[in-house]
This record gives sequence, C-alpha cells and structure tokens, in this order.
Amino acid sequence: MSKKKVSLACSVCGSRNYTIAENLNRKERLEVKKFCRYCGQHTLHRETR
Ligand SMILES: [Zn+2]
Repeated sequence: MSKKKVSLACSVCGSRNYTIAENLNRKERLEVKKFCRYCGQHTLHRETR
C-alpha cells in the first residue's frame, strides 16, 4: 500500500512549504491555508506535481 505524495506551494511566493499524502481518486485541486515562512503569514497553498 503506497501513498502518493504531493507538495503544497504558496500561491503568493511559489515556495513549496509542505508535503502531504494525497487522497486516492480525488478530483478537486487541494487548496489549503497554511503558514508560509517566506511571506510571514498564512497564505493559500496549492498542490504541485
Ligand atoms: Zn509564500
């Protein structure tokens, strides 16, 4: 059983700050509010490949 990993990139500065395990068979793009240490605030992070 393997889990697929995706990176979450800050939508403001583009830094990849987080890596998460992706849910199987997910259609929507992940968008999560997380703290970006480059921006110094919480920003919207999107998945990247
Ligand atoms: Zn940022």
